Amino acid sequence: MDLVSHQPYWLVKNGLVATYPALEQDERCDVLILGAGITGAIFAERLTREGFDVVVLDRRDVGQGSTSASTALLLYEIDAHLVTLRENVGRAAADRAYQLSVKSIDSLEQLAKQSKIDCAFRRKRSVYAASSEDVLPDSRAELEARLEIGIDVAWLGPRELREQYSLPYCGAIVSGNSASCDPYLLGHGLLKAAAARGARIYDRTEATEFDEQPGGEVRVPTDRGPTVTARHVVMATGFESQQYLREKVVKFKATYALVTQPLPTTAPWPEDALFWETSRPYLYLRATDDRRLLAGGEDDETHSPLKRDALVEAKAAKILKRVQSMFPDLRLETEHAWAGTFGETKDGLPYIGRSPERPYARFALGFGGNGITFSAMAADIIADELRGRPNADAAIFRFGR
Ligand SMILES: Cc1cc2nc3c(=O)[nH]c(=O)nc-3n(C[C@H](O)[C@H](O)[C@H](O)COP(=O)(O)OP(=O)(O)OC[C@H]3O[C@@H](n4cnc5c(N)ncnc54)[C@H](O)[C@@H]3O)c2cc1C
Repeated sequence: MDLVSHQPYWLVKNGLVATYPALEQDERCDVLILGAGITGAIFAERLTREGFDVVVLDRRDVGQGSTSASTALLLYEIDAHLVTLRENVGRAAADRAYQLSVKSIDSLEQLAKQSKIDCAFRRKRSVYAASSEDVLPDSRAELEARLEIGIDVAWLGPRELREQYSLPYCGAIVSGNSASCDPYLLGHGLLKAAAARGARIYDRTEATEFDEQPGGEVRVPTDRGPTVTARHVVMATGFESQQYLREKVVKFKATYALVTQPLPTTAPWPEDALFWETSRPYLYLRATDDRRLLAGGEDDETHSPLKRDALVEAKAAKILKRVQSMFPDLRLETEHAWAGTFGETKDGLPYIGRSPERPYARFALGFGGNGITFSAMAADIIADELRGRPNADAAIFRFGR
């Protein structure tokens, strides 16, 4: 699968941060993690911290799947409203999913701090704007639902939004629980921490099969020849995971993104805020540490990578026009644009844990607009499972739901 169109910003900005060898000899380990994007990196750090002997394989260079394309708005907010999620999965599960998301932002911050990773991790507020007057009652109901479960949210009306955020919207939920980072550097930093604890990381090595062995081990041949034999397998294979499952867990889309040239120092957009909105597809927006705006949206159903490549310029122009209309006093210019595969689940929640189709593996599939937050959540649940500790939250994200 072709995950990305054009070079994503983080790759252009950071280049090849670290290179790892391809697999040249057979390996044996407690846990084989497939995928060295942000999800595989979070797992590698976590599982080595828990004392597991870990091998990581990636068929690309490390971090060069969806992670390099992510705009990395680290939102506790799930694409599905809490009110809607309560209707679809039940009140207890919905409330818990939101609360776990809030906790996951704290976990990501801790991860960056503990391993001293220089990845521009910043705590931020998120502004979830009502796209029209018609949706104001729904947005208010959503605010109330979040307040009920103790989430740090407040309502801003049009005047406050204009004065505090220069935003021309009729109302918004402002939350204090979000963050942003450079996901490519965070992933590299976590892998480095895992490697320091003995994880063996190999890239440009694809797992081609899964052979269950008598006694419960799994033998995983690779396209390089050597095999990895592991007691457990974690599938951190991102949007390419659907190929391993008959159960349809993700609906694919394409999403488009751009980064502007640096803003003047007097930019009215507060750097400590993330923006998104109620209309679907939504525009998403944040600032970078080097005073650029990073914006995305214009999602569509384009599946062909060639078609997506051809659409990048036109989609970026539309995104820029929208952002420019929000901030008419700024003179914005696109520095760089790209696109990537994106995906949604039927209820907005990730799929985490074992699928009956492949009982030897645990999946960590954080699909959706806050995929990175979901990956941190998945690490808690699967680490518990591998340690044999009961985790009451696992059922919320189970396969076959
Ligand atoms: C433009 C864009 C903007 C986004 N913005 C946000 C955002 O603001 N906030 C947010 O939270 N999320 C966002 N996302 C989603 C986010 O990027 C993903 O949720 C996240 O990167 C997924 O990470 P991952 O490690 O699971 O997947 P990936 O980074 O794709 O890593 C999976 C890896 O598995 C490897 N792999 C697959 N199969 C095999 C195999 N058989 N053998 C070996 N290796 C294999 C792949 O090579 C790949 O590197 C965005 C995505 C895009 C495209």
